[in-house]
Formats: sequence, structure tokens, C-alpha cells
Amino acid sequence: MKAIVDIPFARPFIGREEEEAALRVLRSGWLTTGAETIAFEKEFTDFLQNPTLAPHSQLSTLNPQLFCMAVNSATSGLHLALEACGVGRAARRRGDSVLVPSYTFTATAEAACYLGADPVFVDVSPGTFHMDPAALEQAIKRLPPGKAKAVIPVHYGGLPCDMAAIMDIAHHYGLKVIEDAAHAFPSLTGNGVFAGTIGDIGVFSFYATKTITTGEGGMVVCRDEALAGRISIMRSHGIDRTVWNRYSDTKASWYYEVAEAGYKYNLPDLLAAVGRVQLSRAWELLRMREEIAAAYDKAFAGKQQLVLPLTGPGDARHLYPLRLNPQQVKISRDEFISRLKKQGIGVSVHFIPLHIMPYYKKRFSLSANDFPETMNSFLHEISLPIWPGMTMEQVERVIDTVLCSL
Ligand SMILES: *Cc1c(COP(=O)(O)O)cnc(C)c1O
Repeated sequence: MKAIVDIPFARPFIGREEEEAALRVLRSGWLTTGAETIAFEKEFTDFLQNPTLAPHSQLSTLNPQLFCMAVNSATSGLHLALEACGVGRAARRRGDSVLVPSYTFTATAEAACYLGADPVFVDVSPGTFHMDPAALEQAIKRLPPGKAKAVIPVHYGGLPCDMAAIMDIAHHYGLKVIEDAAHAFPSLTGNGVFAGTIGDIGVFSFYATKTITTGEGGMVVCRDEALAGRISIMRSHGIDRTVWNRYSDTKASWYYEVAEAGYKYNLPDLLAAVGRVQLSRAWELLRMREEIAAAYDKAFAGKQQLVLPLTGPGDARHLYPLRLNPQQVKISRDEFISRLKKQGIGVSVHFIPLHIMPYYKKRFSLSANDFPETMNSFLHEISLPIWPGMTMEQVERVIDTVLCSL
């Protein structure tokens, strides 16, 4: 008999307002990038610049001016970000290096490959799931001088990385910092700055399972006007005048100039309209995830067999990455997952390290024990469901099943 998963690992929180927003666009006669996308970008900018709008915020100051550019995925956003930072650009240069954690989704590393650059993997620090700043520095030092161009820290699970340490190292070696903030919306750190707005460029994801969603989509954020200009142009075929501007400008609507061989990475209005509603719910959705995390923390605290996820200020709680304590648990992580699945509970593993994926393993001749802390994190991790809309009965069932399966 096949088990029916009745508590899925993830489920988007989509209500009447999202449905109505999509219908409004479908009926408007304008489906691609236009007024909705521009409004979404503006509202997203306001959100990040104005942490005083956060619930319970004690903050009174605005953050510096930001440019927010909607894209069709965070993967496209990472590609545009690296391109704008000059990776692989000079004289069609190949062999630039981009430092990334091995403990991430392939998108983080594949964006470097798009530009003919090499992703160079970095281990995580124990217990954090985050790129280890000391290991980052060692990895940079091992490269021939001038090869390392950028580093992409990942705010795993929504908990911001140690950005101060990473920024110091990046500045010292002249690297650009692109934050993979795919999990980290909204992650407001203690000093009133959002994850994704600290480095040179930040990239958020609105993929179906992420904290707010448009189905597929993303947002690229930066403070530098020149970088923003490059990203905007490359996002739409290297054309310096978007289709929308051509219809709304006073200049002849048929005229445009191609300045570069760009990409087709724009976010359509149909999706941006859904994103605007999701954005307006972002704090409410976070509160729901926090309630679930608090219930898990309470139930699992003090259990010798389990290691609770680290948390801290600005944790967007995208994941609940529980760990099995190998000294105390007799069964394997995989066996544990199949027990949960038999009880109808969907779980996941974040992440299968990139250095053991066939492509990267073969291309860079890597072996599993090259990144011991990454492997150690991977082998014992299990991500529990933490989606807004889960009922407390469902949360209790997950808790009971976890405790009975140990
Ligand atoms: C989901 C994810 C991405 C890619 O996001 P898309 O919007 O699906 O392209 C990148 N990095 C990390 C860490 C992710 O989890």
C-alpha cells in the first residue's frame, strides 16, 4: 500500500486577494511586465527601506536608497548580479572564480557557470548551515591572485549569515558580495537592516515553496545606481527602453536600441500582481511560521536525540532544519524520513551538498570528505513542514510522529 502524504512539506498560502489580483490582470489586456511589476518593485523597495513598518519595530530610521528589480526567478537574478559585477565579462574572460557554499541549491553555483566562471565551494561552520568565514578566507588564499571575483553567501533557512565577517574578508580581497537571500524574506536583523541589502547585491526568490511566492519569480536589490542600470538593461534583452516604457513614453513607440546581448528575465504583471498581495501579507505569514517553530522548539527541547535549529534576530523561518544526534539515535536519517512518510508527513532535506552532485564532483574532481562539516550537516538534517496555514492539529501530529519515530 502506498502511503498518502496528507501533511505536505510545503504549501503556498494563496487566498481570495491573490486570485482577484490575477484575474484583474488577465482581464486588463496587459499580461507582461508593466504597471503591476513597477508597483510591486516600488512596494518592495518601500518595505526594505522602511523597517519602521515592521510589527513591534523599535526602529525609527529609514535605510539608504535601494533599487529593486523584479525578475522571473532568483536564478536569473543571481546570473544578472554576477554579470553586473563583471564576472566573466572582461575580454570574454573564462576562469574567474566565485566562492559559494557547497551546502546550497545548485542555482547558487550554476549562475557562475553561465558566465564561464568556476564555482569554488566553501565548507559551513558546525551547527550553523552557513558558509564558514575562516574557510572562505582559506579558499580565497588557495586561488591564484586575482581569480576570485565574488562570493555568494546563502542565508540558509532565512537566518542571516555572519555578514560582518564575510564583508570584511570580501573587502580585504576585493571581492563583490552577492547575497543569496532566496530563503530570507523578510529577515530583519537586530540593527534594522534586512538580509539581502547588506552586500553589493541581494537576490530574493518567489518560487512556489518560498516565504512569499508568485509561483516563479525573484527580486534583485542593490544600492549602487550603475549596477542597477546594468541589471535593468540586461534583464530585458540588453534593450535600454522596456516594452512598457515604449508604450507609455512620448517618443515613437516602435523605436528601441539594443545596447548588449542581454537576457529575457523580466517578471510578468500576471505574477507581479500576486506578489503585491503576498508582500502585503509578509509579516503575517512570518508570524504564522514563528508559531509553528515555537511549537516544535517547545516539544523537542531537551530531547537527547534531536538538535534544534539555531535561530536569532531576523530569522525568516523559511525552514525548520531539525538534526538527529547520531550518538543518540539508532536509526539513520533516511529511515527516519521513511517512517514519517509512512505516517503521511512530507519532509525534505536541505541540502544535498553540491560537491557530491555528479556534475560538480566530476568537473572539479571533488570527494565527499573535502567538506566535512557540510557532509555532517547533510547526513543528519531533516526539514519539517513549516507553512502558514498548517493547523495546530497538523503541527501536533508532526511532533507526535517525530517523537514516536526516534
Ligand atoms: C530556491 C533557491 C534558489 C533559486 O530560486 P528560484 O527563484 O527558484 O530561481 C536559489 N538559492 C537558494 C538557496 C534556493 O533555495
